[in-house]
Amino acid sequence: MFDKILIANRGEIAIRIMRACRELDVKSVAIYSDADKTSLYTNYADEKYALGNPSPSKSYLNIEKIIDIAIESGAEAIHPGYGFLAENSNLGKECKKNGISVIGPSKNVIESMGDKITSKKLMRKAGVPVIEGTDKGINDIDEAKKIAEAIGYPVIVKASAGGGGIGMRTVYEEDELVRAIESTQSVASSNFGDSTVFIEKYLEKPRHIEFQILADDHGNIIHIADRECSIQRRHQKLIEEAPSPIMTKELREKMGSSAIKAAEYIDYTSAGTIEFLYSEGDYYFLEMNTRIQVEHPITETITNIDLIKEQLKIASGNELAYEQKDIQINGHAIECRINAENPLADFAPNPGKITGYRSPGGPGVRLDSGVYMNYTIPTFYDSMISKLITGGRNRNEAIARMKRALSEYIILGVKTTIPFHKAIMRNPHFIEGNLHTHFVDEHRKGID
Ligand code: ADP
Repeated sequence: MFDKILIANRGEIAIRIMRACRELDVKSVAIYSDADKTSLYTNYADEKYALGNPSPSKSYLNIEKIIDIAIESGAEAIHPGYGFLAENSNLGKECKKNGISVIGPSKNVIESMGDKITSKKLMRKAGVPVIEGTDKGINDIDEAKKIAEAIGYPVIVKASAGGGGIGMRTVYEEDELVRAIESTQSVASSNFGDSTVFIEKYLEKPRHIEFQILADDHGNIIHIADRECSIQRRHQKLIEEAPSPIMTKELREKMGSSAIKAAEYIDYTSAGTIEFLYSEGDYYFLEMNTRIQVEHPITETITNIDLIKEQLKIASGNELAYEQKDIQINGHAIECRINAENPLADFAPNPGKITGYRSPGGPGVRLDSGVYMNYTIPTFYDSMISKLITGGRNRNEAIARMKRALSEYIILGVKTTIPFHKAIMRNPHFIEGNLHTHFVDEHRKGID
């Protein structure tokens, strides 16, 4: 096991990783920008180093500076968390030059899975079901029209380099196609520096179901069950649960073995997630996330496996301590993302000072938070400030605990997604487990 690692991230995920380090007796190094001088996570590390300028490109995305700090502090590895450098293959390249490990998969895997066209092509070859669509970038409008017609409307135009729900446009008829391609190309080029877009079939009311993978350097690959993440806004997740309410033993075996096949085909190592869209009994590969995900705690809650500790063990060369048959699912877990956003103003960010704070607790409640009373949420970064996770013997108990925990959770001074989550937990369709990715749009009335 490593003696010391650097956590190239901030907020709740930095604390989460530092907690795993503490339990494994690994020293942790925090880095912080000028905007994070008073951030909670900096107190959880054994050492902390300033990054200066708060703009992401000059701080948490600044590979050179981060590697210099790793060398200065004597850290043997870097954990990138999620976001920032988590899926940036340059981190691995630069770390290798400096003899530092990255806690995550290889740079080649990050590169091929980071590109939606490449990843779909690979998955098709691996024998994993993928959504019908083009396997190459769109260059010619007439060709695009022919492809869309062959697939059948509605279709979705997507940026190959896209992420975070950015660079996607649904097209219901041919008249809208040209404009959708042009606008997606321009969004893709300004956000990702790559204007390549492709077309695939648009599934009208799918469920987003994903599988957690763990793979070591010795060829062992297992899945740690499924999560459903269909409650989204602007294609971004807000509520996740594990397992999916529709999951059966047979479906889990089928989708789980596709997920393992996918990871095996690309020689995946570390923790990762294979995302699928599920519709009318069929499922299709959507993308692979080559990092630990925001929603990992719900998997931890139902399996008792600490995924961050597993990542650290894998990165230091250990063999997985479990086989597929050892993975047991106990009960049900739900996660609500607590964002400093105004749910009544289309989830607009609402950073500022927290003037009142009381955290929830009690049976079955886990709070992974990066904030505290009198903390000022900076404007520079993501609006997610904490994650509330509840677990119970079954879905009803997990929901009851979430309702109770949300009513205990008080955050004053900034608008948060807490009222939105309360409304969803009361929604009869949610209680029935009747979910799809347009749930929020469809039930917006009740939520407002
Ligand atoms: P990103 O990489 O930006 O997160 P994804 O490809 O993972 O984008 O898709 C995010 C979400 O967008 C999905 O969970 C789903 O709600 C929606 N989506 C993406 N592709 C399709 C599709 N072909 N049909 C219907 N919805 C889709």
